[in-house]
Amino acid sequence: MIARAAAVTGILALAGLTAGGSVAAQPNPTWIRVAVVQGDLEVFLQIHGQFTMRSLQTGQPVQEGRRLERTPVRAAANGLTLGKELLPVSGLRIEPTRDATITVNGSRLRGTLDIVRQADESLLVINHLALEDYLRGVLSKEAPDYWPEEALKAIAIAARTYAVYQRLTKSQKLFDVSATVMSQDYGGKTAEKHATSLAVEATAGWILTSHGKLFPTFYHSTCGGMTENGRAMGPTYDLPPLRGGIACRFCTASPFYAWRRRLTREDLAWALRKSAHGTVGAVQDLRVLTRTESGRVAQAAIVGSQRTVRLSGYDLRALFGFDRIRSPRFTVVPVEGGFVLDGHGWGHGVGMCQWGAAELAREGVLAPEILTFYYPETELVQLRDLEGRPIELLGGTS
Ligand SMILES: [Zn+2]
Repeated sequence: MIARAAAVTGILALAGLTAGGSVAAQPNPTWIRVAVVQGDLEVFLQIHGQFTMRSLQTGQPVQEGRRLERTPVRAAANGLTLGKELLPVSGLRIEPTRDATITVNGSRLRGTLDIVRQADESLLVINHLALEDYLRGVLSKEAPDYWPEEALKAIAIAARTYAVYQRLTKSQKLFDVSATVMSQDYGGKTAEKHATSLAVEATAGWILTSHGKLFPTFYHSTCGGMTENGRAMGPTYDLPPLRGGIACRFCTASPFYAWRRRLTREDLAWALRKSAHGTVGAVQDLRVLTRTESGRVAQAAIVGSQRTVRLSGYDLRALFGFDRIRSPRFTVVPVEGGFVLDGHGWGHGVGMCQWGAAELAREGVLAPEILTFYYPETELVQLRDLEGRPIELLGGTS
């Protein structure tokens, strides 16, 4: 525990933050910490150009160089191994010079990198970089670069706002966002594309607030006809700009607007048996019990010969995979041997519908209007205009 507390203090000190007070000052919203690797036993590191490696605990340099060939890094009982060399540190900060590039597991990254040994001897790798650089590596993964410019700009502003919200609510943790779709997909410099980077630059610093307060600007691929209330993501997100119920007739061109998935009775029994829900015997029925106001499945029941399991639309999707049951917006049709799910949309449905945003932009609607269409009661604000005072969160801290 002592070692761990020391590690945290070291990281905060290096990040220029104070760890002394019970409540740290609000972190600088123009930077972000992205967990690019979590829980792996080994990562491959490569550096082109001059760099310094420091101990995360003391800040002392432990290695300097002009180039590092692709080298495995692993956690050891008494430090970290870099290739065959044992470094007696539980965390490393790698600082490249301006022209140098760090590559982790094949992805080139901007900014600096922390490699931290965790208690279970797995690795946590955190990329620290400027918010705007982070967004360049996000937007190209979250939206096709051939989409209309105004749609890309709207998504860039939503992604920026979401990132700042995460940064301000995760300040007590070691990182603000992870690099997966569970926060926002991030591919680093490797993933950057010209059109999406231009949209980030064109909207630099702009975020969305509601009555001057920050909120999490959730967005999703395709709503399938109507957006969902943020309440579906948890009681914290029952907020005016996320109230949902926006009738969206703009995402019909999405390949995910309508979908169909056949599930056999055996598929259901097997998936339950493998999950924490456990066995139900032979599956007899799959029933939707309640729906949200936007028509999405709130509660469903799987009736077995031994017992019945009730689960939320989210849990049902998690059971089979979020890309297999693309949204909770579906009806169940019993067929021979199982059930057919007739569905609409991809994603949770909260906030902005990206395919809808693309169509609105094609029809000539500008980014600010696209944003206020999907997030009512909001206004655009420049991050730099918020400097010098704490940014308030809608609904308080989560
Ligand atoms: Zn839509």
